[in-house]
Amino acid sequence: MKALLVRGANDVVLNEIEMPIVGPGEVLVSPLVSGLCGTDLEIIAGTIDAAYVHYPVVLGHEWVGRRVDHAERGALVVVEGIVPCGHCDECQRGAPNHCRTYDEIGFTRPGALSEFIAVPDHLIHELHPEVSALDAALVEPMAVVWRALTRAHVLKDSRCLVIGDGTVALICALLLQRFSPANITMLGLRPAQAELAKRAGVSAFVTEIGDERFDFVIEAAGQGPAIARALSSADRGGTKVLLGLPAQGTAVQLFPDDVVNNDLIIQGSFSYTRQSWAEVVGLLNDRLIHPSFLITHRFVLAAWRQALDTLSNAPRHEPRGKVVITLDND
Ligand SMILES: [Zn+2]
Ligand SMILES: [Zn+2]
Repeated sequence: MKALLVRGANDVVLNEIEMPIVGPGEVLVSPLVSGLCGTDLEIIAGTIDAAYVHYPVVLGHEWVGRRVDHAERGALVVVEGIVPCGHCDECQRGAPNHCRTYDEIGFTRPGALSEFIAVPDHLIHELHPEVSALDAALVEPMAVVWRALTRAHVLKDSRCLVIGDGTVALICALLLQRFSPANITMLGLRPAQAELAKRAGVSAFVTEIGDERFDFVIEAAGQGPAIARALSSADRGGTKVLLGLPAQGTAVQLFPDDVVNNDLIIQGSFSYTRQSWAEVVGLLNDRLIHPSFLITHRFVLAAWRQALDTLSNAPRHEPRGKVVITLDND
């Protein structure tokens, strides 16, 4: 079968590889759409810690597909990417994102940019037949955002600030709407993103904020200056969530007296849980969210180079949301 394979640093090929062997407790799925993100570029560049990527690896960790086994043949499914060991203390207490053994689809095991993929049955979430594959393709990044938002208890009528204007920031705005905020401001660098932001529920897209303060601030850029901004822009009693992953060694100034005097909550959030997947799939299945407008660029698998180019060279003057590759596996 065909697969987009990263053989090592800066060595990507669309190649014929062996069909996956479906082991016990596994199910065969045909991927339909697979989103790309900055992490895929890091896998290609070879800049991720060797413990987290096993080369050669088939790319694709944000995806949706169809079951091809007999029981539920044809059902649209999404599959949690992190494969928890199921035995360690963290798994036992329901935190697979802290599992002591790292194993993830598209990193340490084959990803979804291929004709078939074998996945653990217990990590599958089935979609309602009316949910589109493009809407479902965004479940993985939505589960990451949803976990951050639900962990933080966003209060109704909050004045919200989203820092960043990339896909994750846009998803933050979209999902924040589920908490009935008073308003959502997005602090970004690219005004070309304003239209997408508006569709995601942002009331004001700004490139600078003055002394304005917010009840809930979520940082989705992963850059030092944006994190510093996030730390200084919450009102008294406010919550700041750090979601964007900065480069290792990034340091920012923090004034602990402000944290105490202003009664602040500062929280990080890493990856997702089974519950955040189930809840996001529930929002899709109940037709409460329709995120596919965030997909601005679609390519077929044969055009994978263009897809990667589009992802790595962010155009400053035109909107860019999620870049996806569609697979002709239906
Ligand atoms: Zn990703
Ligand atoms: Zn574990």
